[in-house]
Amino acid sequence: MIEAVRAIVHRSRVPEDKLYERALRGVLADHTLRAGSNDPGDAICVHRETTGTVSSSVVALVAQRSRFETYFCPGPPCQNDFAGPVNLTIR
Ligand SMILES: [Zn+2]
Repeated sequence: MIEAVRAIVHRSRVPEDKLYERALRGVLADHTLRAGSNDPGDAICVHRETTGTVSSSVVALVAQRSRFETYFCPGPPCQNDFAGPVNLTIR
């Protein structure tokens, strides 16, 4: 997953403030199954009859700004937006 985010960030021309949100949503909303799998639980965003992804949170260290940025999605990321960032300054 980290490599997928890096690839999206690397080729993106989105302003930095929206970069993580867009990149991470793309990865965290992915329903791709590993090769040969029919189990929806193998996807990053899971949908089953009785269980599945109910929310998503991301905490990113932005070292050059000396802070953590947190994002929260109050449901499956394929159907909901991430709120944030909430910035936590490193002291
Ligand atoms: Zn989904």
